[in-house]
Formats: sequence, structure tokens, C-alpha cells
Amino acid sequence: MSESYDLRITGGNVFIEGQGVSDVDLLVRDGRIAAIIDRHETTTSAETLDVAGKLVLPGAIDPHVHLGKDIRVPRDPDDAERETASAVAGGITTMLIYLMSSESYVGELEAARAAMDSNSHSDYGFHFVLGTPEHLEEFESYVDLGVSSFKFFMNFRGDEGKYLGLPGNDDSFMYDILRKSAEHGAMINPHPENIELVRMFRDADHDSSLSSLEAWNAARPPFVEADAAQRVAYLASVTGASVYCVHTSSREAVEALVRQQDAYPNIFIETCTQYLTLDTSSEADVYAKVNPPIRPREDVEFLWEAMKAGQIDAVGSDHNARHRTNKEKDIWSASAGFPGTGGVLPLTLAEGLRRGIGLDAIVDAVSTRAAKLFGMYPQKGTIAVGSDADLVVVDMDSTSTINAETQHSAAEYTPWEGTELPLSIIHTIVGGKFALRDGVLTDNHEGHYIHRARSGAAALGQL
Ligand SMILES: [Zn+2]
Repeated sequence: MSESYDLRITGGNVFIEGQGVSDVDLLVRDGRIAAIIDRHETTTSAETLDVAGKLVLPGAIDPHVHLGKDIRVPRDPDDAERETASAVAGGITTMLIYLMSSESYVGELEAARAAMDSNSHSDYGFHFVLGTPEHLEEFESYVDLGVSSFKFFMNFRGDEGKYLGLPGNDDSFMYDILRKSAEHGAMINPHPENIELVRMFRDADHDSSLSSLEAWNAARPPFVEADAAQRVAYLASVTGASVYCVHTSSREAVEALVRQQDAYPNIFIETCTQYLTLDTSSEADVYAKVNPPIRPREDVEFLWEAMKAGQIDAVGSDHNARHRTNKEKDIWSASAGFPGTGGVLPLTLAEGLRRGIGLDAIVDAVSTRAAKLFGMYPQKGTIAVGSDADLVVVDMDSTSTINAETQHSAAEYTPWEGTELPLSIIHTIVGGKFALRDGVLTDNHEGHYIHRARSGAAALGQL
């Protein structure tokens, strides 16, 4: 009876999957949820955290992160420490990081894990970007290492991937990786853009009356994304692969994917916070340059309708800590990408609730669904007995402001600079330990590597 616990979280409005917000207390032991109990039950615990009136959610998962000064791989302690600080300050407890290399990922994984080890505030796993015949040969060993999802840049034809050190590819390579992923219970995360059309628009005369973000959108219009999304989704059905379309930005792309889902179910859709909150008139201007581009307001509105309709599986950030100095240029020469992991939960939660989206749908999109799709559930993505004690406590009765400082990223800017939120993240708990306490980062950076044996349909089939 007098069992003892490490931490009791008491008084909160706790989000329990399938039940919604519940008046329960949580007991944590050895980094996991040990029990969910009635508020009036007495227990012994080393520490009690009173969160009366606060919302307690499963820690958010950012399924789309790039780390490293050159965005390819985290190499030094800073890459890991600063950017995961940004994540936990925004309630992210697990991130999935894209490693991009033309080398064997057996060595790259070891190096990346070494860089993350004892530096990461959050738990983390990896996706690998596939680009070479060697990657294809080693596919099975990558899955054995706990990486069951792989990115493919459909736009890397000819020299387009050279800036990341990746060779050009074609549809036969894509077909092969789709087939392999189906064989090994893995998933392919394509970057869908038709680069031949991009080149044509890029090289055409630009309309000088357009704003920076309007011009960038015009140079990579939505149908360029939709065309590629449709094609990879169709080839997924041919090969039996699971496909997770990353950073879906436009109405055309969502509609193209939903059409394919009618014929074949294993197609999943990610969007990013920027496509849900920024449009081509945004003051962020060139700081918000990204691929696919920030779209006009109609697309933002459409994406929320898609969220409401349950068509969006997950929201990620496409976090990329490109330094300010690479952005403060004209739209054509500035680097694409920006930091955003710290905004995924607070922005999606605030804007989603304002638009009448249910808390259950929001939690699913920022946590649970990604855990399920990427083979981390129920260890991650839910508050349940036996799950990791990854929790975020949100004060819905206070406000907060997004700016470069509150985002903690080494990039030193945010496209949401000055955005006021009707809530604040007060505690983030990773594996039972505080990563953020009373809004302040702690010294705890003992995030763990998450081994993921399956992704996509193979992972869902096991639930
Ligand atoms: Zn990305």
C-alpha cells in the first residue's frame, strides 16, 4: 500500500486519450507513468507538483527536424543543446531528426548519437535521407539500428542536391526505396516537388510588383508540389509502401493526396506550423523563406479545414537553425528554412482551439499520431500507465510572446517574432525529469535515443 513514487502531479486537467480532459493525478516512477489515480487518494512520493487548473498533455512530438550548422547532421554539442532547448521550451519531448549524407549511415548514426548524447534536452530518433546505391544496399541494417523512416528528395535531380552533398536521383531509385520500405516495415517520407517545373518558373522573368513571399510562392506554385505528391502516392500503391508526405503546404497537394487515399490507404499527410499560421503577406518576409513556400491566405484556411476533417496526420516544424546572416538577403539569394520546433505545440494549440478544433484532434496531430506512425507508441504520444513520463503543462490563463529569445535557437530569429499567444508552456517533463520548470530551462539534457523498429502501416498494424 505504501508504495513510493518519484513524482506526483496533482490537480491538473489531464488529457487522457479516448477520455479527454480528466481530473486525475499522475504518479511517476523510474521515468514512466506508474499510475493514474483519483485526486483524493494518498500516496508517498519524493516530490509533488501542484498544477491546479493547468492543462496536462502528452509531450509533443516534432516529427520533422534538421539539426546541424549546415543542417545535415548534428556534429557539435551546440547543435544538439540549443535546438533541443528550443523544443522543450515549446513542450516538445521527442523529436525526429533528418540525417542527410552520401556516406553510410552506420557511421553517421554513431556520430549523430554521440553529438546528441548528454547534450539533448529532449528524446530523439532519426530519419535517414536516402540518396546513394550504398544506402539502398544497407537499407535493412538501418532498420535494425532503429531507423524505420526514410526521406527521399524528389526534387534532387541532376545537381539539385549537391548543396547537401547528395547525388541526383530519379524515379527508378524512388521505386526501389518504396519497394524496400514495404518489405521491411518502414516508411518513405518524400519531399514532393517537381523540380523540372520549379526550374522553369525560377528561370522565368519575375513579376517585380510581388512581395518577397509572393514571389517565392509564384516561383514554386502549389501544383508543382501536388504533382509530385500525387505521383509518389500512386507509386506507393503500386509497391505497397507507406508514404508520409512531409511539409504539405497547399490545398492542391492535400487534395491530390486525399484522392490517392481513396484507392490506397497507406498515405499519410504532414503539414507544418508555418503553413497553418503564416501567409504570403506575413511580416516575417524573407525570414519565412522555405520550401515549399509559404502560401496565400486561402491555403492556410484550407489546411485548417483539412485539420477539422481529420485529413492531416501530423504537424511538424521542419526546424532548421539557419543563422540570421543567411536570411538577411533578397528572397532569391537567402537560405531556405528557419527554426520552428518551439512553436509547434503553442501555435497549433492556440490557433486550433480558437478555430474550434477539438483538443483531442490537436493532441493527436502534435503528438499521438506521430508516435503511432513512427513506431513509438505507446511509449510516446499518450498519457497511460507504462508510457514514458513525457508531459507538458500548459497555463491556459496566461499569455506569452514568441520572439528570438524565447525560442532559444542558435539561429537568432523567428518568423513568428512578436506573436502573442493566449497560453504559456510552464513545465516540460522528459522521462520524468524537468526539462522546463516554471518556464525556465533546466540543466537536464539526458535525452535518450528512441529505437523505432517499424513505421507506417507496419507500425499501425501492431497497435
Ligand atoms: Zn525538412
